Amino acid sequence: MNRIMLEAVASEFLSNLKENVLDSGRQIYNQPLFGYGDAGDPLFDEYKKANIVGEGFLAPCEWLKDAKSVISFFLPFTETVKSSNASDRTEPSVEWLHGRWEGQIIIDKLSQHLAAALKNAGFEAVIPSLDSRFRAYRNLNGLPLTSSWSERHVAYICGLGTFGLSKGLITERGIAGRFGSVVTTAPFEPSARKYREIYEYCTMCGACARRCPANAITVEKGKDQFVCQAFVEGTRAKYNPMYGCGKCQVSVPCQNGIPLKI
Ligand code: SF4
Ligand code: SF4
Repeated sequence: MNRIMLEAVASEFLSNLKENVLDSGRQIYNQPLFGYGDAGDPLFDEYKKANIVGEGFLAPCEWLKDAKSVISFFLPFTETVKSSNASDRTEPSVEWLHGRWEGQIIIDKLSQHLAAALKNAGFEAVIPSLDSRFRAYRNLNGLPLTSSWSERHVAYICGLGTFGLSKGLITERGIAGRFGSVVTTAPFEPSARKYREIYEYCTMCGACARRCPANAITVEKGKDQFVCQAFVEGTRAKYNPMYGCGKCQVSVPCQNGIPLKI
């Protein structure tokens, strides 16, 4: 199993997945972008620090004893999903809601398919987000604080991109999309990280702050995760079981790629 074979497996699977097709016949996700990390990368242990992910974060070898690699993938939303969420400044579009709801089902199924392909090739594989040991730690109001695995932090290690002011990860295909990952004993050559700083791709232009209906983002202080989460949770009352916002990911310079620094 090598990168080309694995990515071909993913591409074929996504092309035939009915959940990736909206009622309109348009797709939710474009083809994924892959990044690979060394399971022993010291940054994984750095993430256990309280000011990064937190002590509950588990390194790859804690998920899978003989782990060699971490495979991270970014699924970019299609133009259909992104443009639909751009017009209304407050309410999530129907397409965006489905992008979150069915979008998570797609991530889970793609992760399971990749894990099965790796196992068929004779390797072990674990999907941390679907593993029984996965924990999300919440505050007294039930809002998420931290977790035992963080897809965006893992994607950073795997060379997929850097954080933005809105705390999304800016990739070569933009910020609007979702991430998944698999830990495996299969050896893959790690992807080069083409950056040195965690906010390197963000221009701090403030467009995401101006787009946020909850005023959760400021250029000076970054994003208030609790204000954001409270707003997103509030959308459940109206769209239950679906929910979402994502206004900070559309109609912004980093929507479709790494923004130009002027
Ligand atoms: S909109 Fe501007 S400030 Fe916000 S994440 Fe994108 S590049 Fe950074
Ligand atoms: S998801 Fe919505 S509420 Fe949260 S930061 Fe982005 S725009 Fe603001």
